[in-house]
Amino acid sequence: MLCEHEVGLDPVPPHAAGCEECLKAGTRWVHLRLCLTCGHVGCCDSSPGRHATGHFQKKGDPVMASFEPGERWAWCYVDQVEVDLPEEAEPYLR
Ligand SMILES: [Zn+2]
Ligand SMILES: [Zn+2]
Ligand SMILES: [Zn+2]
Repeated sequence: MLCEHEVGLDPVPPHAAGCEECLKAGTRWVHLRLCLTCGHVGCCDSSPGRHATGHFQKKGDPVMASFEPGERWAWCYVDQVEVDLPEEAEPYLR
């Protein structure tokens, strides 16, 4: 499905190859998520830091895509639903 938060998204290249906060803190993550608004890379809710969720709470950027190799899906934090990956984001995924 599509949510209204996907409209007007203009995905930008990822800032980092790993969770930015975890890389700074030297902590580990489980899976990575890419913010489709600003290119922030954060870790999933199975990771101790939950930095993708933290990024949404801090900045309000609504849609994050999976940044795992071969995975093609996105999640809207506002609607709490899985959404179709915008095709503009495809080149930035792994
Ligand atoms: Zn939404
Ligand atoms: Zn993290
Ligand atoms: Zn962001």
